[in-house]
Amino acid sequence: MTETGCPSPIGFADVVDYWAHDLTPAEEERIEAHVFACAACARELAVAEALARGIAAVAREGRLHSVVTDGILNRLAADGVRIRMYTLDGPGVVPCAVWADDDLVVARIRADLAGVDAVTIVTRLASGDEIGRLSDVAVRPGQHEILNAFSAAHLRALPATRVQVSLTTSVDGGDRTIAEYTLEHAGAFDRRAGEPPR
Ligand SMILES: [Zn+2]
Repeated sequence: MTETGCPSPIGFADVVDYWAHDLTPAEEERIEAHVFACAACARELAVAEALARGIAAVAREGRLHSVVTDGILNRLAADGVRIRMYTLDGPGVVPCAVWADDDLVVARIRADLAGVDAVTIVTRLASGDEIGRLSDVAVRPGQHEILNAFSAAHLRALPATRVQVSLTTSVDGGDRTIAEYTLEHAGAFDRRAGEPPR
């Protein structure tokens, strides 16, 4: 990424945010002006666009487990990726399931993230088996939710089970639990979302 000689390359995070329309208009303009004048970064942006488009295929193949943004989800939806969203906000039990036509299932995890600069998100079944762990996910100032995306194909393999999601942050060599959430996963259903049960 740096052998091309740009003295101040735009970072990959900015490239992804640009693709997802998550930047402010001023930030977008800065990147567009830079890319217009810088062939090295223009190539980076083209590569990143191709990678980002690949996310849709990866999601469908069942290999995606990542933190995403609303901007990324909007772009994926525009590319035809079907997204099911569950909001985790407090101690209640959230019923969930995965349907035949889902590509991506997203947990919108709301929490008090004041003063937190990184979190670890662990998703566990009632059996104790971990089905997902994302470590040291960066948190921006003012951020109050984290979008954790799973491939529906991966979740389809799960039995009906209770699912626990924990959000922790490292403090002085230990872990502090920020919040814990419970989902009651009903399993995988064949009917297409929105159709009445037969
Ligand atoms: Zn550049």
